[in-house]
Amino acid sequence: LIELRGVNKHYGKLHVLRDIDLTVGRGEVVVVIGPSGSGKSTLCRAINRLETVESGTIELDGQPLPEEGRALAQLRAEVGMVFQSFNLFAHKTVLDNVMLAPMKVRKKKKDEAARRARELLDRVGLASQAEKYPAQLSGGQQQRVAIARALAMDPKALLFDEPTSALDPEMINEVLEVMRQLARDGMTMVVVTHEMGFARSAANRVVFMDDGRIVEDRSPDDFFTAPRSERAKDFLSKIL
Ligand code: ATP
Ligand code: MG
Repeated sequence: LIELRGVNKHYGKLHVLRDIDLTVGRGEVVVVIGPSGSGKSTLCRAINRLETVESGTIELDGQPLPEEGRALAQLRAEVGMVFQSFNLFAHKTVLDNVMLAPMKVRKKKKDEAARRARELLDRVGLASQAEKYPAQLSGGQQQRVAIARALAMDPKALLFDEPTSALDPEMINEVLEVMRQLARDGMTMVVVTHEMGFARSAANRVVFMDDGRIVEDRSPDDFFTAPRSERAKDFLSKIL
């Protein structure tokens, strides 16, 4: 579904993505881990075309990523992104936050958008919070709204960039549980996270990045029991 071949990107002299080859099949969950600055966020942003790349190809569903205009908006709708900061509209209710993009981008009727939004809020366990404002919710609840909002566009894939890093420990699990359920339902997901429990239990593959390169791309079992590279061993020894 998502295919990167020979992707390179610099920020000035800094080579942040080096010859990245990555394929994510339909329904696959790929967890991306690696030290700070290794290029994980840049990789996510490149897949969603929030960043341009200098060389290589990125395809979604067999189509190269569009450069601009309507097609680009369409791509962003097809590949949802969930960030560390939830980026909800503070002055809109939870329900409105989830309804907004489908009405604007997909031209859905208000009734239909509201019906679907309530369905999705129910799915992330927030049916009773629909009329509240983001500030009235906990961080974990806000992040679940952000996930519902991404789902409202019926995306082909979801990208998560450290979705639980800004959360208090007791809220991390409620968000991970929603993500596990999405994985079980067959959603294609690329997840940057330091939650190794999630990687072990939900990922089909673990991609380990270091210094702009994909150093390992293997099953979680293989990766966690016998990392091949010194960098991965070193990384795991620090976080496990
Ligand atoms: P972290 O775990 O800290 O989130 P990361 O693996 O997500 O790190 P990136 O955010 O992709 O890393 O950044 C890769 C490198 O590119 C870092 O050295 C970072 O400082 C640099 N970088 C990121 N964004 C920019 C930018 N807009 N301009 C210049 N340099 C940038
Ligand atoms: Mg990052």
